[in-house]
Amino acid sequence: MVRHLSRSIPLAELHCHLGAAVTPAIMWGIAHAQGIKLPTKDYWEFRDLITVPPKGSKSFDGYLQLFHWTELIQSSPLAVERSVYEVVGGAYRKNNITTMELRFNPMKRNRGGEQDLDHIIAAATRGMDRASLEYPVKPGLIFCLDRAFPYELNEILVEKAISWRDRGVVGVDIAGPESATFRVADYRRLMRRARQFGLGITIHTGEAGPVEEIARVIELLEPDRIGHGVKAAYDPRAMAMLNERGIVLEVCPTSNLNTRVVSGWEEVRWIFDTFRRTGVRFIISTDGPEMLQTYIRDEFATLGRLGILSVEEQEQLAAAAMAASFVPNVSDVSLTQRRPERRKVVEREEA
Ligand SMILES: [Zn+2]
Repeated sequence: MVRHLSRSIPLAELHCHLGAAVTPAIMWGIAHAQGIKLPTKDYWEFRDLITVPPKGSKSFDGYLQLFHWTELIQSSPLAVERSVYEVVGGAYRKNNITTMELRFNPMKRNRGGEQDLDHIIAAATRGMDRASLEYPVKPGLIFCLDRAFPYELNEILVEKAISWRDRGVVGVDIAGPESATFRVADYRRLMRRARQFGLGITIHTGEAGPVEEIARVIELLEPDRIGHGVKAAYDPRAMAMLNERGIVLEVCPTSNLNTRVVSGWEEVRWIFDTFRRTGVRFIISTDGPEMLQTYIRDEFATLGRLGILSVEEQEQLAAAAMAASFVPNVSDVSLTQRRPERRKVVEREEA
């Protein structure tokens, strides 16, 4: 019998999109509470509309399409507060996740500017506060910039993250579909600015896009972590850079299988072996537990069953995720204290 990771070991979820993390039944309730006209009156059809079937797979863009409905339903302060509250509490109840980083794009929750961005963000922080009053959890928010957005909108998102950093916004990310207009180099200054204010930086790369982008992202944007990054296993230069800078990859195996970024569990095995051999740091996440119908413990269980990760390795990865979190740990030093060089820059800028 295969031994499982003990449930008593608390977990950190570092890569989880709000639009992919709310249980369909709760999404259904939130949609109806707002009177949103859904494309179906049948709950089960709705459920199929916003989830990936366990054995089915979608193209990368097909997967992003699923977010159309979840983002629309979550587009109000009421919906965002309830969503964040339910995700954080649910992750604790289902998986003993005590550190929960939730990422979303507030501009994809404000109905094209109809709703005020600060109200959306404040609602998310209320959701976190309510969940942390009920459970021993430490949540944090990451704002996702979008590759397909014009630079000016992404700049506003970074400024919002900076102004809400003392209220639970812990980092920024760049996500979204591959876009012809997106250039990594354009974001150098903006990411530096976010970092100066103590925000963590994680960037989606090395997933559906070109392998060469990983090294460019590392070089120009200097992220602390990378969303996915599994394709780095095919680029020795990128792996050397990841190693040298201690960057952590947020690997989401089921997500990569569903979007056909990797061909199967054998490729996952090869990627993990390659990272271990070369010393590349990585942790396990889900990308979106409800949409993909997999929680972190399911990911660990599968990796254990297939002999890709031993229980000892799973324990090490669980601890590594805690250590790599942007959420300041009460018993630990805060993010800015952990990065004295950043603190100094902030003080200089504020002076
Ligand atoms: Zn993602």
